[in-house]
Amino acid sequence: MYTASLSFRPLRKVDADTIVRTLFQYLDALQMNGQVLSDEWPMTRSKGIVSVFVSIPERDSLRTSLESKSLRWARGELAAAGLSQPKVTILGAEPTSSSICKCATPNCYILYTYYVSSECPLRCGDCFDVVPYYRIPPTSKTGTYEHIYFWQKNYQFCDTFQMNCGVGERFGMYQISNLNSRLSKDGLECCRQVERVTSKPCFYYLYYYSPRGLNPKRRLQCPKCKRTWLLDERWHDKFDFRCDPCRLLSNLAQN
Ligand SMILES: [Zn+2]
Ligand SMILES: [Zn+2]
Repeated sequence: MYTASLSFRPLRKVDADTIVRTLFQYLDALQMNGQVLSDEWPMTRSKGIVSVFVSIPERDSLRTSLESKSLRWARGELAAAGLSQPKVTILGAEPTSSSICKCATPNCYILYTYYVSSECPLRCGDCFDVVPYYRIPPTSKTGTYEHIYFWQKNYQFCDTFQMNCGVGERFGMYQISNLNSRLSKDGLECCRQVERVTSKPCFYYLYYYSPRGLNPKRRLQCPKCKRTWLLDERWHDKFDFRCDPCRLLSNLAQN
């Protein structure tokens, strides 16, 4: 991931509300196209120039050749509102971010995120590095990746609840670990969308959960097809369980 600034010059007198509304519309379209990752967009205004700071997956993620139809429209709105086209400055690489997949064509994908991740949740099944959304065709009917984006947000809320061990802890745990939760259903639907546009399998990760009283034998069975799904060796140093027909993954508790 890289941190970049996008600077906009007013072409005529523009009020602050119009600037914020038009820029947010543009940033939102960039985000739904996977070209901007961060949700928070700190803004400065100095000598009339408005700058916004964003996280992007790759150094060249903001290239216009990746633009969707809605993004082209949002960029057109900048001029209509009296703002210049963005001047992009790459400020540097984010030191703690994961690597981006370099495989020519991944053989499969994994949908994976966690409570503090700001990265794209699509992972390469071969190297487990991050695959920016725009490398695969849009998964939603709107020509964006919005379903995956919204699933990721909901997943992170649920994961935060269970991590904080207070409000909504049981709810969060159920959502991320149970195959039949609304969150899992949404996530599995996202995986099917990825499979539809890539013609490659996409795995869904179920968080490990061992409620008291659950027969340990049942833990060794895929929760969907009941086949044995314990792997001889951990996959990507993370997953102990994998069911290929059901495209499900999980792991043993980490102490
Ligand atoms: Zn890869
Ligand atoms: Zn299965």
